[in-house]
Amino acid sequence: MSELFSFYGRLEDATDVQKAELADRSTSADPAVASRTAAIIQRVRTEGDVALVALAAELDGAALRTLSVPRELRQRALSSLESPVRRSLERAAANIESVHRAFLPRASEIEVEPGIIVGRRPDPLDSVGVYAPGGRAAYPSSVLMGAIPARVAGVSRVILCSPPGPDGLPSGIVLAAAELAGVSEVHAIGGAGAIAAMAYGTQSVAPVRRIVGPGNAYVAEAKLQVSGVTGIDSPAGPSELLVIADDSANPDSIAREVLAQAEHDPRAAVVILTHSDGSALEIGRAIEVTLATEPRRAIIEESLATRGALLWTESLEHALAFSNGYAPEHLLLALRDPDAALEQIRNAGTVFLGDTSSVAYGDYMTGANHVLPTGGLARSYSGLSTLDFVRWTTYQRVSAAAAIDLAPDVAILAEAEGLPAHAAAARRAGEGTVATPPARRARLAPRARATLRTLSLYEPNRAPCALDLSDNTNRWGVPPAAERALRDVEAERITRYPSVYTPELKRALSEYAGVRADEIMAGCGSDDVLDSAIRAFAEPGDVLAYPDPTFGMLPLWAKMNGLVAAPVPAPDPRAVDIDALLATRARVTYVCSPNNPTGLALSRSDVERLVERAAGIVILDEAYAEFAPDGWIAEAPRHAHLVVARTMSKAFGLAGLRIGYAAAAAATITQIEKARGPYMVGGVAERVALAALCDDLAWVRTHIGAAKESRTRFRAELDGAGIPSLPSDANFVLVPVADAAAVAAHMRAAGVAVRPFPRLRGIGDAVRITVGPWPMMDTALRALRSAVQR
Ligand code: PMP
Repeated sequence: MSELFSFYGRLEDATDVQKAELADRSTSADPAVASRTAAIIQRVRTEGDVALVALAAELDGAALRTLSVPRELRQRALSSLESPVRRSLERAAANIESVHRAFLPRASEIEVEPGIIVGRRPDPLDSVGVYAPGGRAAYPSSVLMGAIPARVAGVSRVILCSPPGPDGLPSGIVLAAAELAGVSEVHAIGGAGAIAAMAYGTQSVAPVRRIVGPGNAYVAEAKLQVSGVTGIDSPAGPSELLVIADDSANPDSIAREVLAQAEHDPRAAVVILTHSDGSALEIGRAIEVTLATEPRRAIIEESLATRGALLWTESLEHALAFSNGYAPEHLLLALRDPDAALEQIRNAGTVFLGDTSSVAYGDYMTGANHVLPTGGLARSYSGLSTLDFVRWTTYQRVSAAAAIDLAPDVAILAEAEGLPAHAAAARRAGEGTVATPPARRARLAPRARATLRTLSLYEPNRAPCALDLSDNTNRWGVPPAAERALRDVEAERITRYPSVYTPELKRALSEYAGVRADEIMAGCGSDDVLDSAIRAFAEPGDVLAYPDPTFGMLPLWAKMNGLVAAPVPAPDPRAVDIDALLATRARVTYVCSPNNPTGLALSRSDVERLVERAAGIVILDEAYAEFAPDGWIAEAPRHAHLVVARTMSKAFGLAGLRIGYAAAAAATITQIEKARGPYMVGGVAERVALAALCDDLAWVRTHIGAAKESRTRFRAELDGAGIPSLPSDANFVLVPVADAAAVAAHMRAAGVAVRPFPRLRGIGDAVRITVGPWPMMDTALRALRSAVQR
């Protein structure tokens, strides 16, 4: 075993010299490379394109007529890719885009003192160059890793340089990847010449602000030499992997990981740290066995013999301390509790948690960036990210009142530094303003979160009206047992706090919904339940997708939680565009069935497809499900990514109590409850709801039946009056009209409140009318007919 590795033994027995040798992955610079590179850069600076064409002939054996690769050729390269390769590249591209979009740097602002605002905004660089090597080292995955984050960061010009083959074009797979990544220009230029062209510009290549991407020794040297003119990424050295394994790790999978990184390069560095000599022996044997049939065996053997180590230590603390000193590019924690160890990791390019998290997944597919610091640079640098493609602009605003207050202190400091003009400027800015008495400073309005500043309060017109059919509540009244419970409510329900997370109510709701008590949660109306569920699963900046039109709170919840709203229009107002919802790859997808305000329920197959394929969690709002043929609540806990929300505001006639609930897998319910406080259902509300759930179900069912009958009759009579309405599975009906505001105002004047919806997507103006007992609907019908005929 010991002959396979350059180091083999107990970590604690290694001398300081041995440890230092192991940690040293420096490569000595070759002075000949440096001087040749400088000459090439000088030639490109003075001769421009002429030098590049000559270099292509000298170094790549290519006779070029033009340097730029036309768009049609890149598109052709993409369409001629074999479909499995294309599918995999597309999946990798989509994941890289999702990860980098989620981690975009964000603008922020602080009011340091009243009236003193300092902000910081990430501004994308205007141009970025990606270098991709050619020949056997043509890695399309690296093209995606460089170009997609730049584009996601908002860089408008992302160019790619890659050396031409004998046909005068860069490798086909590099061209295809560039097309997939949305690169704006491609040039057939290789080596140090490409770096010089991107840094200084030539007739056909305008200079860029930052250059990224791996390359040979000349490319790496050229990047260093132009780094005073343009930004560069950190130098990419040979691959590195450090594995920390305990007895839960499978020796064969560790062996596979080791060989995978060692096959990159004879100078690749792979270190395995395990918990005992026995387990080191097992891992070593697994490596020997697997190595015997490896196509790149020679490279792997050289790498292990030069920079490979198989070590054991009984102390996880020692292993982690070693890792923090070594600062590997890739760190694999093949441990029983990798998350606990992750807490102690300080210096690593990227960390893989558990032995099923293969480094190869990170190299290609997870979407994390694989351009990472090597050679110990992980002590001071991070992997490539959107941060590399923006620069920060700070801004500062000092109000008149704050200027008066700041001036004396600024003047004191300026005078202490011997800069009287500064002191005078500070005093002048303070004097030039209208004096506001300092006592009023504290009363300046505090600035709310940026996303809230553009938000208006939710204010539907709820002015009293003789007959209110505007809010979809139950117009048959309060269920009798609930009413009795309300009259008899115990004083304790008022003087004491309600129960923590309402276990009694959960039990009753779980029986009604057909799930277990730990698979349900209750909140202050389904409004609160939906908001908490969204907040539990989406970080600020994540996408919240929903069909348009739907429940009007969705854009507000997006803003309240700092999310990006993605309303998805349906081609037909009677359907939801499931494919378009899936394509958003949103962290949270909301759908409402039956939908408010259209009234239509989603088909089972649509919900199934959405739940099976959505990238994130699906929240299905079933506020009106009792009025539809069926619903999903009982099945919700069986789908790991589904939350189904319901309410007692509609079928139960208890909107004033504010009780909503949701069913999901128990673990999901816990996360949602963690997203808000424990007392979201008041004690009186809980008591009354329990009574309704125990003793009012027959009443509720009878009135659901009555609502459905009323709905059928109302729509038939509307038809008879020549007023078409949308079919409905809810306790309301949507009626398209020419001018929603005018119709609603006219009906209100006639004593009937309905909800106007101006410019609903795909429908136009419409009014939504709650369905109640018949005499009410007759009144509504007459008011509507008169309003429409005007
Ligand atoms: N979801 C939908 C679709 C709704 O229409 C409403 C209220 N109109 C709610 C949720 C919220 O209901 P509550 O908070 O009363 O449970």
